[in-house]
Amino acid sequence: MKKIFSHDVLPIVENLHNVLKLNGIKSTIRSENLNVGIGGMGCCPELWVSDQEFEHALKLIETIDTLPPETDETWVCSNCMEEVEGQFSECWNCGKPRRQIL
Ligand SMILES: [Zn+2]
Repeated sequence: MKKIFSHDVLPIVENLHNVLKLNGIKSTIRSENLNVGIGGMGCCPELWVSDQEFEHALKLIETIDTLPPETDETWVCSNCMEEVEGQFSECWNCGKPRRQIL
C-alpha cells in the first residue's frame, strides 16, 4: 500500500476515494477518526492505494478537477486554523486556497 493523498478535510479525501472507486481503483482511507475534534494537527485523513494501482491512481488524481465538492459548510483553513464560510474558496484570514492537493 502507498499513501497517495492526504488532506485535513475529510470530505475531500472521501470525494477522491469515491472518484477512484468509480474508476475501478480500490483505495483505503486511514486516520479519519483522529481528525475529529483535534483541529487538524498532524492528523490528516490519508488515502492509500495498492502499489500496483498507485501509478494509475496518481495519473487519475492529476487529471481530476473535482476536488472538493462545493458546499456551504464551514471549513477550517489548514494553514491558520481559522473557520471560513463555505462560499469562500480562500481563507479570509491568510488567503490560502481551500482546494489543495498534497
Ligand atoms: Zn488561513
